[in-house]
Formats: sequence, structure tokens, C-alpha cells
Amino acid sequence: MPELPEVETIRRALEREVLGYELQALDVRERVHLLKNCTPQELKRALVGRRLTALGRRGKFLVFEFGPWAVVLHLRMSGRLLLRPAEHTRLVLHFEGKTLYLDDARRFASLYLALAKELGELKPLRQLGIEPLTPSYTWEAFQTLLTSKREIKRLLLDQTQIAGLGNIYACEALFEACIHPKRPARSLTQQEAKRLFEAIPRVLERALEAGGTSFDKYRTPQGELGRFQEEFSVYSREGEPCPRCGAPVKRIVQGRRSSFFCPGCQR
Ligand SMILES: [Zn+2]
Repeated sequence: MPELPEVETIRRALEREVLGYELQALDVRERVHLLKNCTPQELKRALVGRRLTALGRRGKFLVFEFGPWAVVLHLRMSGRLLLRPAEHTRLVLHFEGKTLYLDDARRFASLYLALAKELGELKPLRQLGIEPLTPSYTWEAFQTLLTSKREIKRLLLDQTQIAGLGNIYACEALFEACIHPKRPARSLTQQEAKRLFEAIPRVLERALEAGGTSFDKYRTPQGELGRFQEEFSVYSREGEPCPRCGAPVKRIVQGRRSSFFCPGCQR
């Protein structure tokens, strides 16, 4: 699933390609799974003939603003926004001279239509937690999250606590901070908490520089691969040596997700 660095990479690429362009036509090829709160007709009426005035991101959601209207899109497991059609086109946005295709093999992507001024009240956005890489990510806010007795790895994946982190970057950040993924959040010492607080944006920034992770279906709108999978310290590296201490990386299952960690240096 695309996580914060992949969604942000897509956002930046699309900003260069279509920001300020007029949407001339729109073709919904999959409405049942994709459109969560509107019909194709309502979507067309709201957007066609308007310019893309802003392109934002909240957690793993992309937010397209067309004047007074906004479209909120989550790519989920296999969604991709491409400048060329691929096999599973679900939505086509015809901008003046440029076409954007939503490709989604598994049909989990979801789209919401909202008034731009009411975006904050839209349910999927309203529930999101603090946003790393923004001023809302403060040491004070982070410490408040850590009063929970939940396992730290599961807490990091909870989008209502921190928005945008997924399995890959949660594993990598815990490795950087030398914290075992099963530790109760509130058992972290001040020093460990501080290390984790700093590791999260650092891992995300590095992934952004690499254009995200192309471990599965993810591609940039231009069809390029991300390169962060080449920099994984623990994720998907079960049995391979830890880059820090050489111990073999272990995999455990937490909440039906794999956690990868080093038993040597993550305590
Ligand atoms: Zn190690």
C-alpha cells in the first residue's frame, strides 16, 4: 500500500503536471467500489470545466481542489495515478492536453467528493492523527500518544494517532530508534521516545528522496519505480544480517501484519 512518501511523491509529480489545468471531461469506469459518497453525474457536475487549484495531501489521502469542490482519494492496496493508461483503468481525468488515469487492479481505492470549505469535517480526514513532516508533529503531541499501553508498532500504524505511516516505515523507524516493536508504548524511556520521535521524519524524508518504495504495484505518475526498497534495514529482510550488529533479522506477526526487527539491537 502506498504510504506517506509514495503519496507525497505522487502529489509532487502531479503538481508539476496538472496544477492549474482545466478539467475538460471525466470518465468513471468503476463506480461501485470507487465512489463513496457521490454518483458519476454529481462528480462531473461539480468538477468539469473547473481548474485544479490546489493539490494537497493528508496522511495517505490525496486532496484535489477544484475551486469550491474537493476530491479526496485514497489509493489503498493497488491504486496508481498514471499519465498513461495501464490494465485496470477505473477513472479518467481529461485535463487540457493531459490525461490522468486511476489504475486499480484490486478495486480498493476510494474517492470522496466534498465542498473544499468542509474538508475538515469529511469523515476519513476528520479522524486522522498528527501529520509527520508538518508543524503539527511536535514533541509534546508525540509524548501524549505514548501514554497508551498498546504495542508501539501497532500504535504507529493507527492512522488516528499518526497519519501516513504504514508497515514499512513503522518497521524502519523502530529499527532506527532501537525499539522492539512489541514494547508497550508507555514503557518507552524518555530517551527512547525522543529517538523514535526523531527517527520517524528522518526515515520518511529519506524515502521521499528515493521517490518512495516500489515493493509492489507502486509507480510514480510517470511510471517510474521508487528506490527506497534498496535501503531497507529490516523490512522484508528476515534472516539477513542486521546492518548495525549483524544478528539475523526476525519476523513476527502483530495484528496480522509482519513486523521485521533485529533481536540484537531492538530491545
Ligand atoms: Zn542489530
